[in-house]
Amino acid sequence: MPAQSKRACVVGSGPNGLAAAIKLAQAGLRVDVLEAEAIAGGGVRTMELTLPGFHHDFGSAVYPLGAGSPFFNSLRLRDHGLDWIHSAAPLAHPHDDGTASVLEQNLASARTVLGVDGKAWCNLVEPFVEHWDAFAPEVLRSVLSIPRPPILLARFGRNGLLPASAIVQRFKSPRTRALFAGLAAHSFLSLNELLSGAFGMMMAIPAHAVGWPIARGGAQSLTNALIGHLSSLGGVVKTSTRVESMQQLEEYDLKIFDVTPRQLLNIAEPRLSESYVRKLRGFRYGPAAFKVDYALSEPIPWKAKECTRAATVHVVGTYEEIAASEAAMRNGQHAEKPFVLLVQPSLFDPSRAPEGKHTAWAYCHVPNGSNVDMLARIESQIERFAPGFRECVLARRVFAPADLEAIDANLIGGDISGGAMGMEQLLFRPTWRGYATSAKDIYICSSSTPPGGGVHGMCGYHAAKMALRRMG
Ligand SMILES: Cc1cc2nc3c(=O)[nH]c(=O)nc-3n(C[C@H](O)[C@H](O)[C@H](O)COP(=O)(O)OP(=O)(O)OC[C@H]3O[C@@H](n4cnc5c(N)ncnc54)[C@H](O)[C@@H]3O)c2cc1C
Repeated sequence: MPAQSKRACVVGSGPNGLAAAIKLAQAGLRVDVLEAEAIAGGGVRTMELTLPGFHHDFGSAVYPLGAGSPFFNSLRLRDHGLDWIHSAAPLAHPHDDGTASVLEQNLASARTVLGVDGKAWCNLVEPFVEHWDAFAPEVLRSVLSIPRPPILLARFGRNGLLPASAIVQRFKSPRTRALFAGLAAHSFLSLNELLSGAFGMMMAIPAHAVGWPIARGGAQSLTNALIGHLSSLGGVVKTSTRVESMQQLEEYDLKIFDVTPRQLLNIAEPRLSESYVRKLRGFRYGPAAFKVDYALSEPIPWKAKECTRAATVHVVGTYEEIAASEAAMRNGQHAEKPFVLLVQPSLFDPSRAPEGKHTAWAYCHVPNGSNVDMLARIESQIERFAPGFRECVLARRVFAPADLEAIDANLIGGDISGGAMGMEQLLFRPTWRGYATSAKDIYICSSSTPPGGGVHGMCGYHAAKMALRRMG
């Protein structure tokens, strides 16, 4: 049967599921996306989580890799309503003296602002910022699929394989060390683990190359744009359709799963070989997020006014504090002063809240499946840099790890990265087969496959590409 007359389904409508569906539909397949939840999008959804009129991004909110994604950028998502909003600067990091470090998007400005460390910062990121269009497709794919690393990637690996604790030695100012540590800590790794440096660089490089934008109207606008594009190719998204067994999928020639290994086993184990099942069982999940959404009566009253220039704020003190927070989380403990990632979208997108009111989202890292309440610790970190914050809170909604999993089944134990990101699971994600499984009509495309977590759609794109190639 020619590929064009085949029917395919994608289970799960996260950004990777939708990317896979679009790639299949572009090739002429008839594609259905089956989504368990009532609203499509997985970690890219916007909902009224606190009070009427306050629109919160349930999961992701800031899109360096979305704006820099080679696949998304090939799709003219603007025609389907996507509009990126850039805050004046991508990131702010307040300090205890009432000032803040601000990461400027423009590299020349960043060099000036970072003062004594400007040159070292530029040396670290400049080659990749300048060649983002060539670099992004190489770095956002399976390392195993690159027969000979191109020069840029080899150069990235030279620094990126180092732990963040080694990279920060190049910076003289404790402020720059803290700034880089905050970027590296997005990895959920301890700062002295290998690859933590690569994550720091993978946050810094797009900050300069494409920015850290938010989506006008919220994350849902990105999902809606992807669905709009898919619909224009004839694809259909069926929400409130949870897939629990392969019997539900008998009408489809090809099945691509935007789920993690544990869910794939629950649904498809009888169709998979014993050795593949064993390997999936060995897949390790990573630490979790403890998240809070806020409806606010006014903007966050930062001591350092520069913090209002950035949509994303890293709310934590020094390098040492971030290192201690992330080491505690890796050791199964909970930091007294956690590294808090905070996003304040309504400062730049008034559509998120009623006139004059605001929204914010904040999370910190905790061990997988943790049931420790981190709310007070998150809020005392925010108060430390924005005294009076608590008085601005009109309502809050707390998502402990189990609450996250209840609203998106891929967030196993609250793991927002689709699995631990150590060296082995970077190379073999989820197994050496990558997107393929032991059954030739079943593929996996979630962030449990290369290149891993983040909203870029490249896992879905590569999985669909592999499936199409194998179908001839
Ligand atoms: C709190 C939080 C903050 C984040 N912040 C950012 C950020 O700012 N920037 C960024 O780039 N990334 C961020 N991320 C990570 C990002 O959201 C994920 O990496 C991304 O959404 C992964 O996409 P995915 O398609 O692999 O899976 P998901 O987005 O998780 O989608 C999986 C979908 O599959 C569905 N599903 C699961 N099981 C079934 C089933 N049996 N049947 C049918 N459907 C099923 C789920 O309901 C879900 O819709 C964040 C995540 C969270 C949770």
